[in-house]
Amino acid sequence: MIVATAGHVDHGKTTLVRVLTGVDTDRLPEEKRRGMSIDLGFAYLRRAGGEAVAFVDVPGHERFVRNMTAGVQGIDLALLVVAADDGPMPQTREHLEILEQLGAPRLIAVLSKIDRVSPERTIEAIAELRSVLAEGRFGEAEILPLSSLTGEGMEALRARLAACTEDSPPRHSTQRFRLHVDRAFIIDGHGLVATGTVISGTVAMGDEVQLLPSGRTARVRSLRANDGEAARAAAGQRCALALHGFSRGDVARGDVLADLGPAPRSHYIDVLLEPLRGGGRVAARGGQVGVHLGTAHLAARLTPLERDAPRFARLSFTREISAWRGDRLLLRDPGSGRLAAAGAVLDPMPPQRGAASTQRLATLAVLAEGSAEQCFDALLGAQSGMLDVDWFAACFHLPPAELRRLEGVRPLAAFAQRGARHLMPEAAWRARCDALERAVADWHVENPDSIGPRPAQLDAPLAPAID
Ligand code: GDP
Ligand code: MG
Repeated sequence: MIVATAGHVDHGKTTLVRVLTGVDTDRLPEEKRRGMSIDLGFAYLRRAGGEAVAFVDVPGHERFVRNMTAGVQGIDLALLVVAADDGPMPQTREHLEILEQLGAPRLIAVLSKIDRVSPERTIEAIAELRSVLAEGRFGEAEILPLSSLTGEGMEALRARLAACTEDSPPRHSTQRFRLHVDRAFIIDGHGLVATGTVISGTVAMGDEVQLLPSGRTARVRSLRANDGEAARAAAGQRCALALHGFSRGDVARGDVLADLGPAPRSHYIDVLLEPLRGGGRVAARGGQVGVHLGTAHLAARLTPLERDAPRFARLSFTREISAWRGDRLLLRDPGSGRLAAAGAVLDPMPPQRGAASTQRLATLAVLAEGSAEQCFDALLGAQSGMLDVDWFAACFHLPPAELRRLEGVRPLAAFAQRGARHLMPEAAWRARCDALERAVADWHVENPDSIGPRPAQLDAPLAPAID
């Protein structure tokens, strides 16, 4: 189980992790000097006979929110820490909203530093915290008052963590491997090591992996899972991979490591926009935005694809990026620095042209709902009825076996279109073949002196065209 802290600076996150694990996660010299977390810290709590609990300690200061968003990728549980004396503060609210929007599955609120305040103030602070939680989807979250200094309330937290570890839902380890890199460094004797949370699938010693968005490949020389030597790591574990074939500077936070199957890479992605509490109008207006996506923080241009209250928008980047359908993201207004909108990736490899055409908006509406299987059906049933198989497998990060299963459910015709394998329902394919025969026959009736039509002359009756 992976647990991330969250909350305002100085509210006791790092101290809490230290008391729970014995590890001081403020490891950088600058963090020691300033007494403040700047980057992500990692610590592990070993449990006799059980899975270790991995802690990601995030910085609370607003200047380091991009580090915070990188740290909460793929977590199982968030610990929102609020000091009893201060009560909820700006980054309490911002972190809470980030956790809600990036899809943290669970949250426990910790009211820290109760040794510093009167019992009356503790009760008051609990009420303040409850009303902040009530604004969002963690309204029912438990609030545990405690003191890292005296140890009061710590047993209750330990017991809750143990219970969460036991009933934390299993991850998708049968899916394809994906890890968003949050650190990369050189270790003598191991070479380049990249760390992150395994989002899906498993990775094992000797595996070939690809670095995205570059597409360069490397072999896993050795690995650690939840801070122990291991032969493989699975979804839901923190993982460090020593990579043969990469050297210093090749890998950085924000990159993704994945299996070798079809992977999305594009300068554009199409997204679903969701308003934030007090999120402003950036989403409707478009323009330059900061994008928190995976462990990356990127600059992009936002173009709404609909006129009023747009649900769909295109993000254009100055370089290729990799994202997957369903990935959550946050948009930041670069002017005010405030969060502007949340969203989800719909199409990580959209066609460059016709972004706002009726047909594209219909495709995006399909991609906004349902499972991979439902989207597969809906796209095949759509007006054009053609599905680019590699695009689909890349968007959904679909394992080959799952793709074969989807293809086997109904009769489909396969054909090449611009060099890529496409599918179409067999009935639609049959209808096209009939239409082609009719078009050729009609041509000969109308042009008895001609030897036959050129392919382009048949496009109109057969639109959209097949190669
Ligand atoms: P962070 O910025 O949220 O990581 O906060 P830190 O863990 O660095 O703590 C900030 C300050 O609060 C430090 O001086 C801690 O010693 C102090 N502190 C943390 N937890 C408690 C607590 O439960 N009681 C008291 N009295 N002080 C605490
Ligand atoms: Mg800290």
